[in-house]
Amino acid sequence: MPYELIYIIIGMDEICPIFIVLKTGEMHELSIAMSIVDLASDYAARDNAKHVSEIEIEVGSLSGVVIDALDFAMESAVKNTICEGAKWKIIEIKARGACPDKNTSYEISDLYSACPYCGKFGHELVQGKELRVKSLLVD
Ligand SMILES: [Zn+2]
Repeated sequence: MPYELIYIIIGMDEICPIFIVLKTGEMHELSIAMSIVDLASDYAARDNAKHVSEIEIEVGSLSGVVIDALDFAMESAVKNTICEGAKWKIIEIKARGACPDKNTSYEISDLYSACPYCGKFGHELVQGKELRVKSLLVD
């Protein structure tokens, strides 16, 4: 059965990369939201926190995650967890490509567009694929 791998980074005092395996056919954003809540709950538990009050999430514009759907899915994902009642903020990270020739980068809307400065193809993706729990507030 095919799986989709998503890379989530918790970026606070430590980098803790994990892979989340989603079964194809599940609702993408709900699975992601549940994984985010799991991650936040684990982190809060390690800190002996009773409640997560704020979750900041960064989503790259080329990550394949629909922000509105994720926002909606978070509502059900936080229910009956220590994240219930938390506020979450979803920040879109606009994708950027770096020109293969020139020392510059530019905003891109897909992976295949040409460099606006020299017209060449084959930029390197600088950012835009990330899905990251950027910060948590716990109490
Ligand atoms: Zn260029």
